[in-house]
This record gives sequence, structure tokens and C-alpha cells, in this order.
Amino acid sequence: MKTPVTVLGLGAMGTALARAFLAAGHPTTVWNRTPGRSPELDSLGANRAATAADAIAASPLVVVCLLVDDTVRSTLDGLELTGKTVANLTNSTPGQARATAEWVTTAGAQYLDGGIMAVPAMIGGPAAFIFYSGAQEAFEQYSGDLSALASPAYVGTDAGLAALHDIALLSAMYGMFGGAQHALALMAAAEVPAVPFTEQFLVPWLTAMLTSLHGMAGDLDNGPADTAGSNLAMQAAAYENLVTTAEAQGVNPMLLVPMGELLRNAVASGAGDQDLSALVGLLRTPAG
Ligand code: NDP
Repeated sequence: MKTPVTVLGLGAMGTALARAFLAAGHPTTVWNRTPGRSPELDSLGANRAATAADAIAASPLVVVCLLVDDTVRSTLDGLELTGKTVANLTNSTPGQARATAEWVTTAGAQYLDGGIMAVPAMIGGPAAFIFYSGAQEAFEQYSGDLSALASPAYVGTDAGLAALHDIALLSAMYGMFGGAQHALALMAAAEVPAVPFTEQFLVPWLTAMLTSLHGMAGDLDNGPADTAGSNLAMQAAAYENLVTTAEAQGVNPMLLVPMGELLRNAVASGAGDQDLSALVGLLRTPAG
């Protein structure tokens, strides 16, 4: 028999996780604060527990997917966790993950923190992955079971590392979407239709530019290349045109302005002959 699993939280993501466990043949117990949510799970064979305590008692592996960190504490506090493995996939900060690891471990359970890199429709599919950090022994024991949800990527024993990886990728994603949304606003201001612009130009351009990240990472790990292909002094000068054009088109430049400031600071600090990877060092200087 496959490992019995429990899923606490049947929001959009928790429901997708429960469906994936059921599809992989795991005896699956579910609980949600508001009873009766996601009734389709019942016909798929889920065992619906009346309380979180009953749900936890049913399985050695307890997957938690609630809205925010506070709700995890208020849901699990005081419940019997001895001998369980708690895999908390609720979005959290590294600090929250470490604090949760401490009190869950004190309560007698092994703790894995997780960061889901997928939307619900991707769960159980090939493109989804989940970062895990925390108890290595628990990961080794349950990674096969957790792979029913998404490819598991273990990033270290420090429980905060999964959240740190998750938040790094989300930060990159929002930067990319913010830039794309600004581009679409410029096009909309000129009544250029979004779909052909996106298909013919925006996505191919971003895809081509993404490959330069490998060189940037190499510069960071191995030291910068001798000559910068696109030096920062040139980029800072050209960047002014981005802001001027936005204003002329009636588009709010709020998403562009901080990058311009960073480029100017880089040039002022003597990094004008370097490449974009030099900005990483400047960002590591705390603001203020
Ligand atoms: P939903 O808003 O759909 O569901 C939230 C869940 O949290 C519900 O089960 C809700 O229960 C429960 N909940 C909220 N407050 C409490 C509380 N005080 N006590 C107990 N339960 C509570 O969110 P998702 O399912 O989409 O997201 C869940 C987690 O997954 C979040 O941390 C999110 O950041 C993360 N995530 C989501 C992604 C997505 O695309 N959806 C992608 C990656 C990560 P009730 O039904 O009773 O309100």
C-alpha cells in the first residue's frame, strides 16, 4: 500500500495537492477549516476528517497548505504531532519557516518546509517543482511520495532555505512580469494590439534575453569577464530614454524608475565599464 497522507487546507492549492495524491493511489485524508470545501474529492476517494486532529492522526505524512504562516500555527498548535512528518507548503518567509520548524520539532515531529513553484493546474504535471528544506531524513523517507505532487528539490537542512529559493524565484518572476506589463502599457497607449506584439516580439525577446542569465551567473561565481559586452555606462545613458518615452506616452514609469537609479549609482561608484552582473553587488548594500 502507498503511504497514507493527510492534506490540511483545501483551498485552490490544497485541493490540487489532494487530487494528485489520490491520482497516485495514496490513501488521502483531508481537512479544511470550512467544512465541505471541494466536494469532488469525496467522489475521488478522499477520507474527510471532521477535525485537524483526526486528520493528523490518520497518516504519518501531513502536508499543510493554508493561506499564511499564522494560520499554520493556529491550526496545529496543541495537536498531537509526535512521530509525524509535517511538510508545510504554505508560503512563508525564511524566518517564519525556521520558527515553525523549531516549534513543530519541539512538538515531536520532523519538519520539512516547502515552496511550491507551480499554480494549481500544474500540480501532478511535469513542469511543477517544489523546494524542500529541513529534516533531511524525512525528505529521504518521503521524497518518493511527495513526487506525486511535483518534482521535489531538496535545498538544505536549514528550514528557511526552501522559502528563500521560492522567494528568489518569485522576485525574478514579478520583475519579469512588471517589465512585460510596462511594455504592454506602452503598446496599448499607441493602440498596438497585445496578442501579435506578445507572440511575435515580446516572448521571443524575453526568451533570448533570458539566456544571458547564464553569463551573469558565471560572472558572479568566477569573476567578471575581461570586457563588458554592454557596459553599464552605456546602459545608464540609454535608460533615460525608457523613462522619457513612458512619460511621453502617458504611461506611469513607476516600475522603471528604481532600475534607472541603480544604473546611475553603479556608474557613480565606478562600475561603468562593467556588465549587468555588477548590479548584484550594489543590491547587497542595504538601503538607507
Ligand atoms: P486559497 O485562498 O484558495 O485557500 C486558503 C486556504 O487556507 C483555505 O483552505 C482556507 O480555509 C485556509 N485558511 C485560511 N485562513 C485560515 C485559518 N485562519 N485557519 C485555518 N485555515 C485557514 O489559497 P491557495 O490554496 O491558493 O494557497 C494556499 C497556499 O499555497 C498559500 O500559502 C499560497 O501562497 C500557496 N501557493 C499558492 C499558489 C496558487 O497559485 N494558488 C501557488 C504557489 C503557492 P477556508 O476554506 O476555511 O477559508
